[in-house]
Amino acid sequence: MAYDPNNIFARILRGEIPCNTVYEDAHTLAFHDIHPQAPVHILVIPKGAYVSVNDFAANASDTEIAALVRAIGKVAAAAGVAEDGWRLLSNVGTNGHQEVPHLHFHIFGGRQLGGMLPRRD
Ligand code: 5GP
Repeated sequence: MAYDPNNIFARILRGEIPCNTVYEDAHTLAFHDIHPQAPVHILVIPKGAYVSVNDFAANASDTEIAALVRAIGKVAAAAGVAEDGWRLLSNVGTNGHQEVPHLHFHIFGGRQLGGMLPRRD
């Protein structure tokens, strides 16, 4: 899938839409999800134009990849979820139910999160 420069996170990165920033560095931005699904629900995104984990893994520089992974660790620690546990999630594509086509990792925490996926009987 080609990158859509008008997706909502691209617009946040350009400052066209506000966000509640919790962390920023040269390669990474983290902000609160607008519809939180847990007491802690933060999105961590690269500043580069990557659609998904597929795109990022294939095309991002080692510096960008290291920055994103380190940012995830810093944000989780700063949010106070590192001790009690938390969840890292990235939805990819149609089957993954990805809604925003700019790579993002969800950080969920602050409560017992339950099983990873609903069971299909
Ligand atoms: P996805 O389903 O693509 O993994 O998740 C997209 C996430 O982006 C959703 O949790 C949704 O609430 C969040 N989101 C969508 N639009 C905005 C926005 O304008 N601002 C913020 N902060 N989050 C958004």
